[in-house]
Amino acid sequence: MLKLILKAGRAGSVLLVTVVSLILSVGVTFGFISIILQNGGDASLKIALSAAAIAAIFVAPVPSWIIVNLLFKTHKLQEEMRKLAAYDMLTGLLNRRAFMERANHLFNIAVRESEEFAIIIIDIDHFKKVNDTHGHSAGDQALETFGEILRSTLRKSDLACRYGGEEFALFLPKTNADEAQNFSARLHHLVKEKKTKHDGALIKYTLSVGVVSYPQTRANAVEGLLNMADRALYHAKKTGRNRTVHYQEGE
Ligand code: GH3
Ligand code: MG
Ligand code: MG
Repeated sequence: MLKLILKAGRAGSVLLVTVVSLILSVGVTFGFISIILQNGGDASLKIALSAAAIAAIFVAPVPSWIIVNLLFKTHKLQEEMRKLAAYDMLTGLLNRRAFMERANHLFNIAVRESEEFAIIIIDIDHFKKVNDTHGHSAGDQALETFGEILRSTLRKSDLACRYGGEEFALFLPKTNADEAQNFSARLHHLVKEKKTKHDGALIKYTLSVGVVSYPQTRANAVEGLLNMADRALYHAKKTGRNRTVHYQEGE
């Protein structure tokens, strides 16, 4: 029912309710008048039907407009609540909880279908310095811009979340190790190219990235693979930052 109302739009729904009211009103009046006339009563069918039609046309639109409006507002609020529960407001990416739920779902499908996939953890290098140098709102803007970069680079089937403050996690289905490596190289390139401007100052930053590829590396759930990607990321930090490290078994 709600779907039909949303599809019809506000004006369409009000028109629909008015037409239904008109048909019901005229129908019911016709029924009553027929019974009265059959029982020898006296009534003018024409006047009664006209009155029923006029009443429906004038009475139905106002309450239906109010109800339809309320339904639209409630639906909008529900959508916003759903968004707030699943997305990070600053970057527009999924939040960690929503990501874990969806990533585990994709993980189960990929394992069942023996499909390759990659999990990536990204940490912005020396982000504290960005805040210290340009201010916290500049840092926020850099995070926002990085969210845009990710959203414009990823495929629709990929998942991306703000994993923590300046950390991000990705799940790339149907992606092999080389493709994951290329994707990461593109990210390094894009953050270098698309510098964030804040109050006239140019904010520069680099990324350290940890990648883990399935089926080369296996685990029982996404959590385990994220831990391995995190170890690769740690390795990237330790070996100079601004680079990608692929997790190797035995590390
Ligand atoms: P490293 O290269 O080792 O990762 O250094 P780092 O400075 O990036 O890491 P560190 O963990 O020392 O600091 C992270 C910084 O990220 C500190 C914190 O204030 C900042 N940060 C986290 N969340 C936000 C946010 O939402 N907005 C802003 N502006 N800064 C944030
Ligand atoms: Mg960090
Ligand atoms: Mg950092």
